[in-house]
Amino acid sequence: MSQLPAIGHLIDGKIVTPDSRAQDVFNPATGQAEKRVLLAEKATVEQAIASAQAAYPAWRNTPPLKRARVMSKLKNLLEEHADELAALITAEHGKVLSDAMGELQRGIENVEYASYAPELLKGEHSKNAGPAIDSWSEFQALGVTAGITPFNFPAMVPLWMWPMAVACGNTFVLKPSERDPSSTLRIAELALEAGLPAGVLNVVNGDKVAVDTLLTDPRVKAISFVGSTPIAEYIYATGCAHGKRVQALGGAKNHAVVMPDADVPNAVNALMGAAYGSCGERCMAIPLVVAVGDAVADAVIAGLKTEISKMQVGPGTAPGMDMGPLVTKAHFEKVRGYVDQGVKEGATLVVDGRGLKVAGHADGYFLGPCLFDNVKPGMVIYQEEIFGPVLGVVRVKTLQEGMDLIDAHEYGNGTCIFTRDGEAARYFTDNIQVGMVGVNVPLPVPVAYHSFGGWKRSLFGDLSAYGPDAVRFYTKRKTITQRWPSAGVREGSVFAFPSSR
Ligand code: NAD
Repeated sequence: MSQLPAIGHLIDGKIVTPDSRAQDVFNPATGQAEKRVLLAEKATVEQAIASAQAAYPAWRNTPPLKRARVMSKLKNLLEEHADELAALITAEHGKVLSDAMGELQRGIENVEYASYAPELLKGEHSKNAGPAIDSWSEFQALGVTAGITPFNFPAMVPLWMWPMAVACGNTFVLKPSERDPSSTLRIAELALEAGLPAGVLNVVNGDKVAVDTLLTDPRVKAISFVGSTPIAEYIYATGCAHGKRVQALGGAKNHAVVMPDADVPNAVNALMGAAYGSCGERCMAIPLVVAVGDAVADAVIAGLKTEISKMQVGPGTAPGMDMGPLVTKAHFEKVRGYVDQGVKEGATLVVDGRGLKVAGHADGYFLGPCLFDNVKPGMVIYQEEIFGPVLGVVRVKTLQEGMDLIDAHEYGNGTCIFTRDGEAARYFTDNIQVGMVGVNVPLPVPVAYHSFGGWKRSLFGDLSAYGPDAVRFYTKRKTITQRWPSAGVREGSVFAFPSSR
């Protein structure tokens, strides 16, 4: 029996630790297992769903303003506990503390948006839609909803989902990533402290067994998923086949176009953070630069080489670090394998991070920043999502050639263009087949009051995450048509289809 502290589930307002399978949770900076997360069996997930089902009627009928007040209190508690939460994120994910703070702040902004729920749920009203007929649409909660989240934003991505779902009157079962579950669970405890009634939010840790239970249980009405594309596709197909509303956000391979007229030093600085921030483990990371013309390609490569040489790589808790380790040993080996593959495929490895050693952290999952030149479409390192600190430069002759490449790629999450030419920028934003686009903005992650979603195989479903789309995703429209005929006035039958003709 392992002596490591166990991470349990939050069901019906209490942390529970039933007997079950479990798996180690590692500190990526040391390579040591520090905790064990319980992997929920079907019965435990069913208990969480039952708790959410029981909490639903009272929560649905709680005035939206009272639900919103819980979100306002939670926002304050998250701010008060920011240092503690960032430390939990860094200890299990590996990202540097300033980056963990950044993700938390973005998550808090989603909670803040959820506190506007009464305004967002007001509905639509038409007086005199017909003779003495009034008509209105209201947005009613769905019931029990569920979310399944990835490892790379253990605080922010769950906060994209459940605050809006519960602010809209639903109850929720959350299945976080089993690789770094502690911050997610702690935030759920803070939600209880903020006044969320027991059962409105339940957290079950686990793997495919837990996910499949959520996907097939008829009590669950909607599923939000964020993770890799093969799993997103599976979630979408299985959830839809079981009659659920599903939004499944998948992987990415985001290109940044650098035009010949771009401000190269600024573009290089922006690319550094976008490619190597969070060790490249962001769905909005930039792993590909499309340089228009050899002159700009040469200048960008030279600038990146210089900036990479100044980077500080080490444990995320150490002051002044720019980049921490990858999340797990398996992921470290996979990313290193992609670098080997790129060399074999004939791309030019300008900076090789494979030999990096971090003093005192021999067993940590550290890979130094890697930079390839002459990456070509068709290479595995061009096609596949690497999700590591590996940036490739593709050389093209024209903007149109670059845009054709981007449009042909299977993913369409994010992209950006660096230029000082407004006409080129406008043509790019207007025509590119990608869901989130930046102009001189490397990570165009929409703010909480817009919505987040890619195109093509980066999102399965019709509605994006958080923001206004979340109100539509977590509610169903009901339209009521009403008249009150005067008492005692006889009315004849009308056989023609009612219209305002
Ligand atoms: P993942 O797909 O491996 O896991 C995501 C979730 O699915 C986890 O909770 C995991 O337990 C569960 N899961 C894994 N395998 C499963 C299976 N066979 N059946 C059922 N459930 C399963 O993703 P990850 O490695 O945790 O996260 C990284 C991926 O997430 C990257 O592809 C990244 O691009 C993507 N991502 C996308 C967005 C976006 O908004 N589009 C945001 C963040 C991350």
